[in-house]
Amino acid sequence: MTFDLTPEQDQLRDAVRALGRRYGHGYFVEKAKAGEHTTELWAEAGRLGYLGVNIPTEYGGGGGGITELAIVCEELAAAGCPLLLLVVSPAIAATVLARHGTEEQRKRHLPGLADGSQKIVFAITEPEAGSNFHRLGTVARRDGDGWLLNGRKCYISGVDEAGHVLVVARTEDSSTGKLKPALFLVPADAAGLTRSKLDMEIVSPENQFLLYLDDVRVPADALLGESLDAGLPALFAGLNPERITVAAMGAGTGRYAIERASEYTATRKVWGGRSIGSHQGVSHPLAHAAVQVELARLMIQKAATLYDAGRDLEAGVAGNMAKYAAGEAAALAVDTAVQALGGAGMTTEYGVATLLGAVRAGRIAPVSREMILNFVAQHVLGQDKSY
Ligand SMILES: Cc1cc2nc3c(=O)[nH]c(=O)nc-3n(C[C@H](O)[C@H](O)[C@H](O)COP(=O)(O)OP(=O)(O)OC[C@H]3O[C@@H](n4cnc5c(N)ncnc54)[C@H](O)[C@@H]3O)c2cc1C
Repeated sequence: MTFDLTPEQDQLRDAVRALGRRYGHGYFVEKAKAGEHTTELWAEAGRLGYLGVNIPTEYGGGGGGITELAIVCEELAAAGCPLLLLVVSPAIAATVLARHGTEEQRKRHLPGLADGSQKIVFAITEPEAGSNFHRLGTVARRDGDGWLLNGRKCYISGVDEAGHVLVVARTEDSSTGKLKPALFLVPADAAGLTRSKLDMEIVSPENQFLLYLDDVRVPADALLGESLDAGLPALFAGLNPERITVAAMGAGTGRYAIERASEYTATRKVWGGRSIGSHQGVSHPLAHAAVQVELARLMIQKAATLYDAGRDLEAGVAGNMAKYAAGEAAALAVDTAVQALGGAGMTTEYGVATLLGAVRAGRIAPVSREMILNFVAQHVLGQDKSY
């Protein structure tokens, strides 16, 4: 067992950290409050190869794995730039395409995802189905050579920045009544696809949308993979990378908050010459949060290592646990940091309260803490399902 990164991974971590710090949380918040995107950071990360670290080299990527992409997610977040679209585009969409796309689809989409010039976002959540994806109501019907899609999706991140939306739909020929999902690469500007922006209480340059699919006609080659049978495995292929990278983003955010707070409490003096950090009522909660973040990082490393070794089932358990642990640790770290900073904690200037909404959302999305506990209860503890 090793806890060391390879020299290449170490270099990647240092380089991404340097890039993130050059932009920093001030840039992230400024963009969010102006209703703009972190276009410059995304473009530079793409140019430097960080967005494509996990994409095979023959399609313009770095040929690494989810371990490398998790490093990118964590280090940008640790610099105060938690970019949710890293989880959606390079982690979910690129993995699904690389593993289950046709050769033509891989050639068409992966190079753009690798250099950051293209984003593909992911649409599974629906208003009626929620956490129960077996209730998906978006339907794809055959229409001549192509497909006709109808349905509604909600909370879909980044549609305004994306070239394509990877839409999860139910195919009509599921005569058994069982879910036969299929994934479609739908151009974000397709006729019949409309969106409305949701007002979210999250300070983020990335937006969520309601999507309406009304007779959206796509050609046959919009179906991801060689046949309808690719749907379910393709859907599952995206889950582990999603959980691991979102966990990495949470751990990075936790590190960022604890670092901000520790700098402050080590120098702030309100009782004579002692720093407020010398009071254990201030330092212990921060130390406790640091322990939780570090434990989450360990589980992320385990999950990513298992995933990159092709051990998908074990990675599923570890990835879910990592996502749970990191979601809780990030929320704890940011809340604790705000408290340690006192009034300064609630200012925009100190850059901590700006993350409260994001870390709160991290306990709900992309999979809620309750659904992870259900997974662990059933698959690790052998408990019956209540639903
Ligand atoms: C910021 C943000 C970004 C998002 N981006 C995307 C995106 O890009 N693409 C996308 O497809 N979706 C996205 N989502 C949606 C997200 O994945 C869902 O919000 C999440 O899966 C929960 O679904 P729901 O909101 O419908 O909650 P519901 O399913 O309505 O659940 C409500 C509550 O009940 C709990 N609950 C439900 N069922 C059970 C059960 N059986 N046992 C115990 N508790 C249960 C849940 O844990 C939750 O706390 C995003 C959401 C947010 C907040």
